[in-house]
Amino acid sequence: MSFNPAEQLEKNPEFGQFKGVNPSISDSATYTFKTAKEMMDTFEGKTEGKFLYSRHTSPSNMYLANVLAAMEGTEAANVTASGMGAISTTILQICEAGDHIVSSRTVYGGSYAIMKNYLPKLNIQTTFVNVTSLEKMEAAIQPNTKMLYVEVVSNPLLEVANIPELAKIAKKHNILLVVDNTFSPLLMSPYQLGADIVIHSLTKFINGMNDTVGGVVCASETFINATKSVIDGAAMLIGSTMDSLRSASILKNTKTLAIRVQKHSENALYVSRKLEQEGARIVYPGLASHKDHKLFKTLHNPEFGFGGMITIDALTLPKADKFMELMQKKGLGDLAVSLGFYRTLFNAPGAGTSSEVPEDEQKKMGLSPGLVRFSMGLDHNIEKTYQGIRECMIEVGILETLSV
Ligand SMILES: *Cc1c(COP(=O)(O)O)cnc(C)c1O
Repeated sequence: MSFNPAEQLEKNPEFGQFKGVNPSISDSATYTFKTAKEMMDTFEGKTEGKFLYSRHTSPSNMYLANVLAAMEGTEAANVTASGMGAISTTILQICEAGDHIVSSRTVYGGSYAIMKNYLPKLNIQTTFVNVTSLEKMEAAIQPNTKMLYVEVVSNPLLEVANIPELAKIAKKHNILLVVDNTFSPLLMSPYQLGADIVIHSLTKFINGMNDTVGGVVCASETFINATKSVIDGAAMLIGSTMDSLRSASILKNTKTLAIRVQKHSENALYVSRKLEQEGARIVYPGLASHKDHKLFKTLHNPEFGFGGMITIDALTLPKADKFMELMQKKGLGDLAVSLGFYRTLFNAPGAGTSSEVPEDEQKKMGLSPGLVRFSMGLDHNIEKTYQGIRECMIEVGILETLSV
């Protein structure tokens, strides 16, 4: 039997204190102990099932962390106040001054910026490499390299990282493979494919409501406990913990993740197939024309499809801007950063979420200034949405009208 992340999500539901169907929310920052000894033992990590202080963890955070660990198939997880909180504390747990990271060059703008601009202040250096070249990724490894950092489906170019092969490289060099799976929850299970640590921004598909930011690190119990050590744990000491009330609200939204991801994928495939037939410059991993389509098919959990992210090249930024403003006016979605929302969201990443990446770097990466990134919504009538997008493209002059 192969691993099914959605079935894992449904396992072992927690009930509330008064047999509520949802677990009780832990509305406490600190916890009492029967004896002073019990408190000391808990402080030293020698007790089971005891809580000390909510920056370390809380019952509500534990419920959410357990569900997400089950979804990725890892032993443990820790939830954080944001995706960047998960990324920064993971890096700082693994790397110290003098260490080195090999990162994919097509990562989330904030991840790029922390590695490129912030970590050098701590004397942690990063080499950015084209993740689709396994040879280049391996060649960039130095004696002081501690981790490979990649996104399964990269932002915003939707390139696919060959996780099993990267895992082999990491193992060979005795370093960790850290994977950001934000774009592809359920459809990819990187830990099952050999990654050591899986990170998500919960802000996106997993919560799906755009009412909060949040993050998670899924890994071995040893690693997660280390990040929560009161002596030297990065998560514990930097203080990136999630609030308990928010954990409780995100937990409920994980229960609809499977059907949401399926619908996002279904809608994205529908729109991209139709637009490709019309000759649009469209990138979607579910299209046979996508350069990593075959690789994607060998890695994904097929019932969840190819995800909700699409890019359409409008060639120039002014055209992209006009296109997005027109779509917003027609109610097809929102001109906004972020993704995984029930409504369609679009932005031009060259000027927006990837603006941390300098222009010459963007060119090298193949990031066109007119690239429009779509996070397809859960639209019920997707044919109507497709027709609307098509009309906007024709009006802006980025799609020729086909003679009927
Ligand atoms: C949004 C995002 C992040 C950062 O998450 P926040 O919750 O905004 O801190 C990291 N990686 C990817 C791929 C993202 O899309």
